[in-house]
Amino acid sequence: MDVGFVGLGNMGAGMAGRLVDAGHVVAVWNRNSAKAAPLVARGARQAASPADAARAGIVFTMLADNAALEAVTQGANGILSAGEGVLHISCSTVSVELTERLTETHRARGQRFVSAPVLGRPDVAAAGGLSVMAAGADEDVARCQPLFAAIGQKVLRMGAEPRMATATKLAANFSIAAVIETVSEAFRIAGEHGVEAERMAEFFVETDFGSRMMGVYAPIIAAQRFEPAGFPMRLGRKDIGLALDAAGNADVPVARLIAERMNRIIAVDGGERDWSALGQPPKSRG
Ligand code: NAP
Repeated sequence: MDVGFVGLGNMGAGMAGRLVDAGHVVAVWNRNSAKAAPLVARGARQAASPADAARAGIVFTMLADNAALEAVTQGANGILSAGEGVLHISCSTVSVELTERLTETHRARGQRFVSAPVLGRPDVAAAGGLSVMAAGADEDVARCQPLFAAIGQKVLRMGAEPRMATATKLAANFSIAAVIETVSEAFRIAGEHGVEAERMAEFFVETDFGSRMMGVYAPIIAAQRFEPAGFPMRLGRKDIGLALDAAGNADVPVARLIAERMNRIIAVDGGERDWSALGQPPKSRG
C-alpha cells in the first residue's frame, strides 16, 4: 500500500521501518529531516511536508505530544491541507480533547481519522511487536489492518469513536506507572530486611506476577538502571496529566499521587531519565 509516515522519533523510526520492510511504499517526513536518512536508505521516499506525506492517501503520525500533532495537522502544509479522502492514523499519546477536535476537523475537510495509540517501547516498535489500540469507523479501521499487521502483534478494537482508543492508552499508561510504583515499594519493604533487589526481581518475573511488563521493569528497578531512557519521565508525566484530564470526575487518587511523585523527580533531574526512576529510593531524590 502507499502510506505516509510523519514523526520519526524513537518510536516512529521503528514503526516506519517495519512498513518499509513489509513492502509498503512509504513517504516519510520529520521536522528534523536528518532523521529520515536511514529510512530513505532502506527505500522510503522523503516527503517535502506532512501534506506531501499524506498524499499517499493514508498517513500515520507518531509525535511527542498535542502541540506536535496540532503542528503537523493544522499548521502550514499540514495533513488537513492534503485534500479530501485522506485517512489519518494518529498513534501519538495525546489528549482525549484533541482527539475529539481532530475527529471533527478531519470530518469537516472530507478526511477520515482513526486513533491508534500503541503499547510497547522503541525496541518493540522496531521488531514489529507493538499492541495497537484502534478506534474509529469500522471501514476506516478495516483499511488500516494491513498496515497494523506490519507494526503490531496485536490489534485491539476499542470502539467506533477515536477518543475511545485515546482514553484506553491513557488508562493503560497510568496502570504501568502504578505497577512501577508498587513494585518499587515492594522492593523497599523487602530490602529493609536484607532481601537483595535481584531476588525480588526474580520473584516478580518468575512467579504468578510474571508478565512481559514485569520482565521489562523489575530488572531495571533492581539495577536502578534508568538511563538511557526507553520512555523518558517527562513523557510519562505528560501522559499521567492527560489521564487525570480524561478521568474528569472519576475517583483516581493513585494517579494524583503518581503525578506528584513524578513532579518531585523531574524537579531534580529534568525528566530525561526513564519513567521507571519512580523506583529510585526517596533519599536520593534530593
Ligand atoms: P521522541 O523520540 O521524543 O520523538 C518525538 C517526535 O515528535 C519526533 O519526530 C519530533 O521531531 C516530533 N516533534 C516534536 N515536536 C514537534 C513539533 N512541534 N512539530 C513537529 N514534530 C515535532 O518520542 P517517542 O518516544 O517516539 O514517542 C512518540 C509518541 O509515542 C509520544 O506521544 C509518546 O508518548 C508515545 N509512546 C512512546 C513510547 C516509548 O516507549 N517511547 C511507547 C508508546 C507510546 P524532531 O525529531 O524534529 O524533534
